[in-house]
Amino acid sequence: MSADMTPAISVRNLSVRYRETEALNGVGFDLPEHALAAIIGPNGAGKSTLLKAMLGFIPAVSGEVRFFGQPLAAARREIAYVPQRAEIDWDFPIDVLQTVLLGRLAHLPFWRRPGKAERKLALDALEAVGMQAFVDRPIRALSGGQQQRVFLARALVQEARLYLFDEPFAGVDATTEQAIAQVFRQLRDEGATVVSVHHDLSTVDEYFDHAILLKRELIACGPLAQAFTPASIQRAYGGRLAALHGMAEGHG
Ligand code: ADP
Ligand code: MG
Repeated sequence: MSADMTPAISVRNLSVRYRETEALNGVGFDLPEHALAAIIGPNGAGKSTLLKAMLGFIPAVSGEVRFFGQPLAAARREIAYVPQRAEIDWDFPIDVLQTVLLGRLAHLPFWRRPGKAERKLALDALEAVGMQAFVDRPIRALSGGQQQRVFLARALVQEARLYLFDEPFAGVDATTEQAIAQVFRQLRDEGATVVSVHHDLSTVDEYFDHAILLKRELIACGPLAQAFTPASIQRAYGGRLAALHGMAEGHG
């Protein structure tokens, strides 16, 4: 990266503890703008914690995080975040269109309610994710994949410069997975930076161009050819991946 290019995300020495668990230890990396990056690592590696700590939802023991060269407070409105499905209250009595419109609130002055322009944006976003036929449905009545698409639409209307997703592909059908991957590419092509926690190593090459490998500590960050290598995957997953792929037979 040349010196005049400010990274989309710059993390230095980020450490997070939950009582007795050290979730992140001295994590640091720079992610260039316009990257489409997968955060990869085994269960409990601190992937969700990294996103939450970067966004200030949980306190860090140490560390500095900058977005586009600015502290979080100055960049917050340029960032869209979609948490893991399990962390969203799906019983909230709200329909699909309202859910998507919520994504636009940060752009409106507090006295203004969403109007025609916001509605148009929301409907366009729902069309982009193939959910235009579900506008009036309660969010809780949708399937997991449909809910995930609605939250993708909600992120889209934010017209953010940086999108952060936590396992958006978990529990969705193949069609939804393709739709989400397509939206990621489109966002990147339109100039945004996209970062997504991803658990399926077999689709990293197809869906992403950068990888951030994590196992409490940073293992690698960079373009796939540099960061998503057998050596770094081995360091992140160790014997568990070898066992999964039946490579552990030699007891090496
Ligand atoms: P990942 O998303 O990579 O699976 P997490 O960031 O969710 O990992 O968790 C990292 C570690 O921190 C795990 O050991 C997990 O059990 C622990 N942890 C996560 N959230 C909490 C919490 N709220 N309280 C205590 N420990 C937590
Ligand atoms: Mg997680």
